[in-house]
Amino acid sequence: MEIINPATEALITTIEEDTNTSAQEKYEKVHQGQKDWQKVPISERIATITKFSELLKSEADELAQTLTREMGKPLNQSHNELNGARGRIQYFVENSKKWLAEEVVTEEEGLVEKIAYEPLGVIANISAWNYPYLVGVNVFIPALITGNAVLYKPSEYTTLTGLKIGELLHQAGVPDDAFQVVVGGGEVGKALLDLPLDGYFFTGSNRTGKSIYETVAPKMVPCQMELGGKDPLYVPNDNANVAKVAQAAAEGTFYNNGQSCCAVERVYVHQAIYDEFMEAFGQEVQQLKLGNPEEDGVFIGPLARQEQIAVLEQQVQDAIDKGAQLLAGGKKADRTGYYFEPTVLTNVNHQMQVMREESFGPIIGIQRVADDDEAVTLMQDTDYGLTAAVYCDTQEKAEEILAKIDSGTAYWNCCDRVSATLPWSGRKKSGFGSTLSYQGIRTFTKPKAYHLRKI
Ligand code: NAD
Repeated sequence: MEIINPATEALITTIEEDTNTSAQEKYEKVHQGQKDWQKVPISERIATITKFSELLKSEADELAQTLTREMGKPLNQSHNELNGARGRIQYFVENSKKWLAEEVVTEEEGLVEKIAYEPLGVIANISAWNYPYLVGVNVFIPALITGNAVLYKPSEYTTLTGLKIGELLHQAGVPDDAFQVVVGGGEVGKALLDLPLDGYFFTGSNRTGKSIYETVAPKMVPCQMELGGKDPLYVPNDNANVAKVAQAAAEGTFYNNGQSCCAVERVYVHQAIYDEFMEAFGQEVQQLKLGNPEEDGVFIGPLARQEQIAVLEQQVQDAIDKGAQLLAGGKKADRTGYYFEPTVLTNVNHQMQVMREESFGPIIGIQRVADDDEAVTLMQDTDYGLTAAVYCDTQEKAEEILAKIDSGTAYWNCCDRVSATLPWSGRKKSGFGSTLSYQGIRTFTKPKAYHLRKI
């Protein structure tokens, strides 16, 4: 498997992919090891995870550079991701014991009823490339703390990062037979579906998620899906500082080159402030520096995947054919590497792909709306349901609008944000099940109900 730097198109290295046989061997290894890992006291399991987090800190420069080189995000964003991942780990370290402790729920004459939480067993973590540390730690950290063994398949676009994660977990004290990295692309991911695993935790596209869910359904084991989004942001006519809102909206759109599951993917602006918003948004986009992600000040690096350029070009062409106007960008940047210019489309509508299909790139459609009702109708006109944002001065107004939107996450005056203390969950085509928060700890366990009667 060739690892290519998307900024230069140069070969970084070649790596040997796993085969069905080696994946099977890795499964057998962790299947053997899981029972011992489960017996390690939870304080010790947590201590190894704390050590892992310290290693992420002490090796941050090298890890950030590896991530930037293989995936293309600006170096400071790689550092932000590592810091964010450590923050999430801290949440799990501080809170897991509380949520995994046995709970006595009834204590009466001669009867005790209690709930115990047991690990699922060996789980697969099939992961995405856009935030390999963040989406990874959402799964493998609580899975390990709760006593599961993990077969972790990083995306083929962040293989080096995935291997480094495995190396550092082992260095921190997680046994070799409790965590194994399985290397490769979709075919290797498929091989994991054939193994008798006790749970499947997937982060990636709706298309792949659906095929995994269909394949593993007959196993009757837990399966959790964190999939894509088409997240809306609405700006009602209730804003004293429209320029500030435009700045936040641009950041939510273009951070990580738009390759975030919760990136702002479409914007609706009340007609009364539309012109003011568009002017401010246009200025923000002009300031975005495109270039080599290892250079200071660069905000727009290359896309991680070359194929995505054609998807974005197709969305731009489709929108223009149906009457959209191009305010900025619209094409591949004229340089080596998988660069796409930050792109803004106006005069858009819901007949256009750019307002309905996940773009996953530096491209946004901005639509003028007559009132809040029209905005709600359009925000709801989607097969996805990951996040939705409203920017306005009045919290009550924002909450009233957000309550009508079928999404797992609702934002007032913020966007493209994940908190370790809140459940992260999609609805509709964005998936099901939760990571993070206490739900994201218990999801890696099976509850056992004890009825204990004295006779
Ligand atoms: P992808 O679906 O192409 O790949 C995800 C993983 O699945 C990779 O490891 C890949 O090798 C593997 N895979 C591919 N085909 C497979 C198959 N048939 N069987 C088993 N495994 C297979 O997704 P991606 O391009 O890596 O990630 C981008 C997508 O992920 C976007 O849609 C984004 O919105 C979504 N995402 C969602 C969240 C979330 O929390 N909801 C977070 C990050 C990314």
